[in-house]
Amino acid sequence: MIAVIGGAGYIGSHTVKYLIEQGEEVVVFDNLSNGHLEMVHEQAAFFQGDLASMSDLETFFNQYKVDSIIHFAAFAYVGESVEHPAKYYRNNMANTLNLLDSMLLHHINTIVFSSTCATYGNPLELPITEVHPQQPINPYGRTKLMMEQMIDDYAAAYGLRTAALRYFNAAGADPTGHIGEWHDPETHLIPLVLETAGGRRNEILIFGHDFDTKDGTCIRDYIHVLDLADAHYRALQYISEKERNIKLNLANGAGYSNLEIIQTAEKITGRTINYRLVERRPGDPAVLIGSALETKKCLGWEPKYKLADIIQSAWNWHTKKWEEH
Ligand code: UDP
Repeated sequence: MIAVIGGAGYIGSHTVKYLIEQGEEVVVFDNLSNGHLEMVHEQAAFFQGDLASMSDLETFFNQYKVDSIIHFAAFAYVGESVEHPAKYYRNNMANTLNLLDSMLLHHINTIVFSSTCATYGNPLELPITEVHPQQPINPYGRTKLMMEQMIDDYAAAYGLRTAALRYFNAAGADPTGHIGEWHDPETHLIPLVLETAGGRRNEILIFGHDFDTKDGTCIRDYIHVLDLADAHYRALQYISEKERNIKLNLANGAGYSNLEIIQTAEKITGRTINYRLVERRPGDPAVLIGSALETKKCLGWEPKYKLADIIQSAWNWHTKKWEEH
């Protein structure tokens, strides 16, 4: 049985659905602080628990016969991490330590976990590969790098099998429109652009227009959440079978500027999207593009979804959610 920690969240819930479709037995552990119970697939078992509580973890692992872990549970807002680092060190670092210690107690030795391109910091060269120096520029990125390092040390000392997957910009939704990106507050570009297209906002503010890029706005590498789900499953199989721990990028290898996102969203939705160019947001590098060549070599993984699929699937999800909520 696979335990998906944070399986009621955005990427977690898509991975749970994907695992179920592959015939896996899944249990979700989530405190529902940011997740949504209705996003958890009906065939997955659900346990409401908090990683801050060793006793929740104890009850959980006594109740379910878990063979491996996929760990998504973390806070992921850069700006908030600068204002409230305590929250990030506690939730991302200390709680992961609890999870690792519980794994040891219950003789579970396989873990795939969500890392991020934010562990690289400002790119020294593009596209970013896995050997790029890791010099994060905000507390969020630092907590994720420390989680990688902590897991490495546990792996070396206690023989864990581990995979750290460094995502670039996760986006898109399951094509059914039943689950998708649902954050409160929402801070990510694509959902905000679509909320503007849907008349839920008057305008989207575009942070920075004087970057050294083709149109002056930032460039990001968007990767579909179902491609992420597929990569987690492959990574889990790989580390379960091979005597090797892995750290891999999950990226499309192509970048789009913020204005290109708006233009593509206008085409797909058929709506005009009001935007305003404003000051830069602190801590935003001009360009982030990842290389996933190593991931392809190692896992045979290749992203299936392009930008138009990402925006179309996200639009389906948002319009459906607005009808229901
Ligand atoms: N962005 C923006 N307006 C917003 C939210 C985001 O211009 O309201 C920009 C942000 O500055 C960055 C890009 O969109 O250039 C992607 O930001 P997002 O927060 O979606 O992801 P990040 O790259 O920070 O992980």
